Parts: sequence; structure tokens; C-alpha cells
Amino acid sequence: MGLSRLVVVALLVWVAWSLWRRWRRAGKRGSTQVHHGGRIVKCGECGVYLPEAEARALGTAGFVCRSHDHPPH
Ligand SMILES: [Zn+2]
Repeated sequence: MGLSRLVVVALLVWVAWSLWRRWRRAGKRGSTQVHHGGRIVKCGECGVYLPEAEARALGTAGFVCRSHDHPPH
């Protein structure tokens, strides 16, 4: 009878599949919304997304991109 062999193969496939799924989920974590190790922020003026290192902080008002590099009135 090849039934026991079929069960073993099915078990191996299931173990490999669950391991692969866990490995894929672990790899996905930590690589979301990270650009060269920095944070992605949104420009409050034109709404474009850019790395925090390239943006200008406006304190509590958020960030703007370099094209609005003038003091607000
Ligand atoms: Zn902008």
C-alpha cells in the first residue's frame, strides 16, 4: 500500500509550506516604509512623499519638501 508514503509526503509538503510562509512573513517585517534606513514623510504643501532626511521639519506642523524652503508667513 502506498497510502502511508502519501501521508508522509503530504506532511513534508505541509511542513515546508508553513516554514516558507513563516520565513516570508518574518522577512517582510522591517522592510516596510523604510528608505535607506530613514522614515518616509509627506510634504504638507504639495502632498509628495519623500525621505525624512530630504524633508524640512516644521515642528508640529509636519514636513515640507525642499521646493517650499521659505519661512511661512
Ligand atoms: Zn512640497
